[in-house]
Amino acid sequence: MQARAVAEAAERFAGGVVEATNRANLQIRGITGSHPAMLEGLLAAGLGPRSSGGDDVRNLMLSPSAGIDPQMLFDTRPLAAQILDSLQGRERLHELSAKFAVLLDGGEALAMHEHAHDLWLAALQLDGDIWLGFGLAGCPGQALAAVPLHQGHDLVMAVLERFLDLASPEQTRMRHVLEQVSAEDFIAPLAVTLRLGPFPVRKAGSDCLGTYPQHQAGKVFVGAAPALGRLDPPMLRGLARVAEQYGDGTLRLTPWQSVILPHVVDAPALTLQLQALGLLCSASQPLARLIACTGSDGCKKGLADTKADARLLATLLPTAQAVHLSGCTRSCAAAHVAPATLLATSAGHYDLYLRDAGQPGFGALRARNLDLHAASELLARLPTEQHHD
Ligand code: SF4
Repeated sequence: MQARAVAEAAERFAGGVVEATNRANLQIRGITGSHPAMLEGLLAAGLGPRSSGGDDVRNLMLSPSAGIDPQMLFDTRPLAAQILDSLQGRERLHELSAKFAVLLDGGEALAMHEHAHDLWLAALQLDGDIWLGFGLAGCPGQALAAVPLHQGHDLVMAVLERFLDLASPEQTRMRHVLEQVSAEDFIAPLAVTLRLGPFPVRKAGSDCLGTYPQHQAGKVFVGAAPALGRLDPPMLRGLARVAEQYGDGTLRLTPWQSVILPHVVDAPALTLQLQALGLLCSASQPLARLIACTGSDGCKKGLADTKADARLLATLLPTAQAVHLSGCTRSCAAAHVAPATLLATSAGHYDLYLRDAGQPGFGALRARNLDLHAASELLARLPTEQHHD
């Protein structure tokens, strides 16, 4: 199982620290030197590209509940497999930047709508049929136009080819090209059946800790999070074991640094096992709502030990609140702006920002240079609407 291969690689070739990322990946931290045997082990477990050129272009995000979500309009996985196959197989597409990101949303209740994507597609119902609405360079909201579902693969290929036709070598992202060509002119020549929008795309949720009904009758999926996105080899092996024992043996990573175990029948027994592994299974636990970057413990840029400080903050907050602790302005732990951000100023001290649509970056500066006790007191006094993502 892939989780066991990652556990072994982290143990044998690094310090044993594995982090869940906000792109629904795992990263092994602290690898020293190059280790061909490590890569061989991971590739043998199917955790790599088919060809070396194909690695960078697999940046396709699906809902973590793809194919099992009761709200989905269609199962995105076969279309995603077809797109990934073309991304790996068509040499020209290897010119795309590693950061070029595509989102395919099947209408599931769970979806990451806060990350900006170069191309996003979202299932829509138009006149009783399923279409794929899409937009360029941004987050799902209003679809620019739509294509019939069966043309989804052709649309993605046509958009990628047109991007490569128009982009200069320095223009690596869709937003760069759209500075010169309007979105309407970009899509006008695409060889697909276009229905012009705008079409509204429904808002998706992001809370997936706990037990949720599945599309498949009698089955549920269970979401759990390692505290602050950090796993270790025993936890990964434990997850592999309980996935086999209670589910179908698969684990799905989410962009909220958590994991979903699908096809479960006995959720209460599984939840006890997950808790015994040290995983958080309820969003009402303060630690489950906190995110923190690597911080000064593992990053030279970090001005404070954000992960240790987050653990302390969790014990000080009276209720669960969505707070992001960042060791510097790079904001590695969050691609979106959290309702509240603590930006490190020195060890154990932070500036507090509150999300404000009218202000760039982390939002409005609320207080400077707070220690964690002062920060928790101020956070606890915020109105509840500022607690939620
Ligand atoms: S946000 Fe800054 S301190 Fe934190 S991991 Fe990123 S670069 Fe390092």
